[in-house]
Amino acid sequence: MQYEQTYRRSIDAPEAFWAEEARAIHWHTPPRQILDYSNPPFRRWFVGGETNLCYNAVDRHLAERADQLALVAISTETQVTREITYRELHREVNAFAAVLKALDVARGDRVVIYMPNMAEAVFAMLACARIGAVHSVVFGGFAAHNLALRIDDARPKLLIAADAGMRGGKVIPYKPMVDAACAEAASPPPKVLIVSRGLDAAVPRIDGRDEDYAALRAQVGDAQVPVEWLESNEPSYLLYTSGTTGKPKGVQRDVGGYAVAMAQSMRTVFDCAPGQVMFSTSDVGWAVGHSYNVYGPLIGGCTSLLYEGLPTNPDPGIWWALCEQYGVRTMFSSPTAIRVLKKHDVDFIHRHDLSGLKYLFLAGEPLDEPTAQWIGDALRKPVIDNYWQTETGWPALTLLPGLEMKPVKFGSPGFPNLGYRMKVIDERTGAEVAPGQKGVLVIQPPLPPGCMSTVWNDDERFLKSYFGHFKELLYSSLDWAIRDADGYTFILGRTDDVINVAGHRLGTREIEEAVSSHPRVAEAAVVGMHDELKGQVPLVFVTLKQAAASDEIAALAAEMMQQVTGSLGAVARPAHVHIVNALPKTRSGKLLRRSLQALAERRDPGDLSTLDDPGALEEIRRVLGT
Ligand code: ATP
Ligand code: MG
Repeated sequence: MQYEQTYRRSIDAPEAFWAEEARAIHWHTPPRQILDYSNPPFRRWFVGGETNLCYNAVDRHLAERADQLALVAISTETQVTREITYRELHREVNAFAAVLKALDVARGDRVVIYMPNMAEAVFAMLACARIGAVHSVVFGGFAAHNLALRIDDARPKLLIAADAGMRGGKVIPYKPMVDAACAEAASPPPKVLIVSRGLDAAVPRIDGRDEDYAALRAQVGDAQVPVEWLESNEPSYLLYTSGTTGKPKGVQRDVGGYAVAMAQSMRTVFDCAPGQVMFSTSDVGWAVGHSYNVYGPLIGGCTSLLYEGLPTNPDPGIWWALCEQYGVRTMFSSPTAIRVLKKHDVDFIHRHDLSGLKYLFLAGEPLDEPTAQWIGDALRKPVIDNYWQTETGWPALTLLPGLEMKPVKFGSPGFPNLGYRMKVIDERTGAEVAPGQKGVLVIQPPLPPGCMSTVWNDDERFLKSYFGHFKELLYSSLDWAIRDADGYTFILGRTDDVINVAGHRLGTREIEEAVSSHPRVAEAAVVGMHDELKGQVPLVFVTLKQAAASDEIAALAAEMMQQVTGSLGAVARPAHVHIVNALPKTRSGKLLRRSLQALAERRDPGDLSTLDDPGALEEIRRVLGT
């Protein structure tokens, strides 16, 4: 009952509830008003309150935990591990902030950070937060064009980049991409700061623009930079969405509401107390990296592990070895990553002492049952699916073991998080659907603290993209869902991923699950393809666990068809099952169904800037004969 009671309070008396939660962080000036909702759906939390994310993540812990590890940055690429205490973090962040000031970066200025998972990326983010600059981290795996798009949207005063990243032992120089992006951008940053790890000896310098971090760091020495106290609703950072459904949106986050959401979720969702260890395998360039590699664990006084490298290097047990070595309590990863590990011997898990590990959280995409089952059996710990979006910034649907551990139901990310007034509604009438019925998952505004304030520089796009779908003012998640009679919500896929076969509406996800239940299937993607007769028909693309002999293919495809019609009926019969080597995904591991569908219908595949492996799309073109 603990969950129900707390949840009800968060919904029925949000101001009282959040006023209490706000005590978990430090306020330089306490808020004058808890919630201002005079201009719906825009809302402002903790109005008039002044605080600072960096102060809450670093300075505040010095009194009690200066010698505790704050950050452990492990790279199995460079073979360097850095163990950084809160005292050291304070020193490095101050130095970085002094360098930013020396480069003329001030409160409100944007700073684009283009770095892999290395300690300086965290120092840079916190240094921006310290002086009130608005950071926008761009995933290091993105190429010049993606970087240029984000530069032109954020218009940064400074771009901070690593000299190079590394992947699978291969050095990937960043500087040429930075130069190309700056050349492509309409408004390139006046200054570029290079943080060198000595990976790329040939970094070309552009005089008057490029600066070297090590040189400036040496000049500032142990400078201290005072914290800039920000009004709770000033922007803290921008983060662009994955771009699965189109041009990425610049999600703008605030200061006070986000700090409070981080403090609360570390306790209630992740059950990770001050002094305990959290390991999120995300990249700092994603929403999970921001919230649960940097701000959440540090605001919570925890130790945060940051990992650069493949999950299989030096062997597929590396993550569990780190869990053992650092006594990780809360681990956070993605279904994609677990599917990679699933291809290897489970003994890579069993050989480690994981007695300190309490939970594995997974998010970012649907968690299929075979993957959940495999990792759950291997770890013998709860595997907790949680659903959120870059926009929400923290879990919207989850189990909250820090409050009350409810039984896990496979396929469901659980219940609405505290403060999230969520409904499943009929897409046409906007009325709430009955339990077990499918509808659109929406959040009734005001959005809780921590969620986006707006789309950067584009309030119109914020209104239109999220609030323009129904008569009533509701935030649309743009995902389909079902809530069962016990209150568990199941995500069925994106609202643009529905197939309408002769008037029957089928979720791509349901068909994918049917296909995936075939023992040979590693992963499946289903899209609707235009059909003269039926409107649409499902088209299936699958990858196999082990390559098939060419004379096996036809039989395998037939078996998978059978699997679909057997579980969903003849109406769901796919037009074709294509067996391929790879599926097109975004750099964050999400399926690009939009592009698959466009190719199947011989249309332009659209914005491919976030595509991970162009080879995958080439193969699709080949099998489709387009
Ligand atoms: P864009 O909005 O730019 O098209 P995106 O939606 O892929 O990109 P993200 O914010 O990274 O960008 O992803 C959020 C989406 O990921 C959710 O809307 C949902 O579709 C999916 N998702 C996240 N977590 C889960 C989960 N636990 N189960 C199912 N789907 C999930
Ligand atoms: Mg989205």
